Amino acid sequence: MDLNEALAQLAELEKKLYAYQAASSSLYLDATTTAPRDTAEGRGVALGVLAGERHKLFASPGTGELLNLLWEKRDGLDRLRFREVKELRRACAQLTRIPPDEYMEYAMLTNEASGVWRRAKEQNDFELFRPVLEKLAAFNIKFAGYYDPSKAPYDALLNEYERGVDMEYLDGFFATLRARIVPLLQAVMAKEAPDDSFLRRHYPIEAQRKFSAYLMEVLGLDRAHCAIGETEHPYTLEFNNKDVRITTRYDEDNLAFSMYSVVHEGGHAKYELGVCDEVQYTCLAGGVSMGVHESQSRFYENLIGRSRPFIEAIFPKMRELFPEQLADVTAEQFHRAVNKVRPSLIRTEADELTYCLHIMVRYEIEKRLIGGTLAVKDVPELWNRLYKEYLGVDVPCGREGCLQDSHWSGGDFGYFPSYALGSAYAAQMLKNMEADMDVWGPVSRGDLSGVSAWLGEKVHKFGGLLEPAGVVKNACGQFDPTVFADYLEKKYSALYGL
Ligand code: ZN
Repeated sequence: MDLNEALAQLAELEKKLYAYQAASSSLYLDATTTAPRDTAEGRGVALGVLAGERHKLFASPGTGELLNLLWEKRDGLDRLRFREVKELRRACAQLTRIPPDEYMEYAMLTNEASGVWRRAKEQNDFELFRPVLEKLAAFNIKFAGYYDPSKAPYDALLNEYERGVDMEYLDGFFATLRARIVPLLQAVMAKEAPDDSFLRRHYPIEAQRKFSAYLMEVLGLDRAHCAIGETEHPYTLEFNNKDVRITTRYDEDNLAFSMYSVVHEGGHAKYELGVCDEVQYTCLAGGVSMGVHESQSRFYENLIGRSRPFIEAIFPKMRELFPEQLADVTAEQFHRAVNKVRPSLIRTEADELTYCLHIMVRYEIEKRLIGGTLAVKDVPELWNRLYKEYLGVDVPCGREGCLQDSHWSGGDFGYFPSYALGSAYAAQMLKNMEADMDVWGPVSRGDLSGVSAWLGEKVHKFGGLLEPAGVVKNACGQFDPTVFADYLEKKYSALYGL
């Protein structure tokens, strides 16, 4: 087979993989938005077949031979095809390294675990979840050895979510942040808290829907390529760079929840829509990693969305949509309210300052759990102790403690640190953006085109063409977590008059 023929086969293989993914995503979108309640069974059948076919295609000898052939001829490949073949070979090797019976057993376990976790959370009963969590942790320790036997198990898992990141890197990262955030938090808590009670007035859903449409317009999201739906948990789902969906949830007694969900998911959507055409329908399409993706959503949500200039810009429209609710509120008061700091129990409700402390608790637990120095039965005790130590709060029960997140029930160990890395990357991107251009003048007029263009050029367009670390270097330069700590200190000192 000559190179051109092999490349044609590669394109066909990639399109098939894309089609399986797109079909599964459509079913997921349907399940979470419009499907009637008791219809999961049939979708489960279809999803099982699609996942099986995808796995078969990946693991087939033909695919392996094609990728090996292309690898032998790699000197003749352009940059894009070279990356594509390299990544596909990596994914293939990964998948085929896990013995098929263990892969099946694990798939069944994670399927069962999500139901068990849900019940345990509902009933506030960690003991119910414990045996499943023990199995999940044991599987992940074993799989880590398949992924990379030369690494410590937790390092191998971290590498799956954010390539190049390991415990040594994260220990330094989190230690730097903790040393700066904990005293800052104490100083903030000694001050009077701003009034945010007006955020919980009655905000009718119909007006909130119009507000979402307005926010998407300000973000520069083209509604011909990006739709918004409503789901229990907001998310972003991408088919390709011309078709992205975001979702939100409306709470009539809480304006900020949907507002910041739309801006956060909008940031994810901007990334997906900005990936270049050349990588579409290949394994390089889409955002490069969890950490980089979160840097984009958090950039829009916290750095732009919770900034004074942005709120000044959108406040007249908010007054128009919610005239009675905001009659006695100024943009300045609104800005202070959405930046209120409050150490809390629930990660997803945490403010920007305390968020990373929630992540550190999870990191310390995962590190010990996967490292074999913490037994599953001792997780709740350590969780509660670390929440007291880092955030100063007493955890009253499992539901508001170590049972709150779905990640472990899905088998995701090593995922959490990406959230904190994303926040830190975003702060450094802002610093560099401010050095390159006037960010806040246009933002105060509701013009985000410059911000969008900068991120598009430095982050979005590459998709998976660069490694995550390459994208970070491109947008941040040499990564330095003190930039994030400086940003937090400056922001909260101004807000709280420290
Ligand atoms: Zn996100």
